[in-house]
Amino acid sequence: MMDLYRKQRLKMVETQIRARGIADRRLLKAMEAVPRHLFVDEAIISQSYNDSPLPIDEHQTISQPYIVALMTEALELTGKEKVLEIGTGSGYQAAILAMLADHVFSIERIPSLATKARRLLEGMNIFNVAVRVADGTYGWRDEAPFDGIIVTAGAPALPDPLTAQLAVGGRLVIPVGGRFTQTLMKYTRLSEDPNDLKKENLGGCRFVDLIGDHGWRAD
Ligand code: SAM
Repeated sequence: MMDLYRKQRLKMVETQIRARGIADRRLLKAMEAVPRHLFVDEAIISQSYNDSPLPIDEHQTISQPYIVALMTEALELTGKEKVLEIGTGSGYQAAILAMLADHVFSIERIPSLATKARRLLEGMNIFNVAVRVADGTYGWRDEAPFDGIIVTAGAPALPDPLTAQLAVGGRLVIPVGGRFTQTLMKYTRLSEDPNDLKKENLGGCRFVDLIGDHGWRAD
């Protein structure tokens, strides 16, 4: 079927992503290829390629395209990596990661979102993403270590289980801060000691809450 949104998608990559300094060619190609509108509700499908986050079910959001690009670029993927995502949401970020890494493990705490995302990814013939329903603040111990970890919900602090599951040399990207605004942080694990981390500030951001035992409380 002809992709009616292709023109909008190419424009999105040019004006929102490339123009803001994202240069990873594999990432730009992936964002040109993945049909973001399939991850957005029919009622707001015309806004799919807007320069903003959009609401999805269960009062959650699909992140702004530029934020997806910025976080993904920070993972420095070459195609061989095992990546953990916390916060599957719509499944869009997972679809991008699937094109850039070897295998993606994605955790979502809300079952209906996980089911919908799984169905969408399978429908797009994406088979290197595993989606699990759980509290992602514990990570995915059976599959650790990960070369990249991406947390797509805002955390009060860096969850210890995640740094423990990061490979030496691995990159972890996470919004950390208050409930309304956070700082996007990149951590690179430098040695066997999980606290031996290089820290980089990627700028301000605003995410929905990371809710869990190593995140915010549900109430
Ligand atoms: N990456 C998503 C996408 O591409 O659509 C956007 C994620 S949305 C901003 C944040 C998601 O994190 C929500 O779906 C929310 O339910 C989920 N979440 C929050 N706390 C979580 C936790 N402890 N474990 C797993 N998922 C969590």
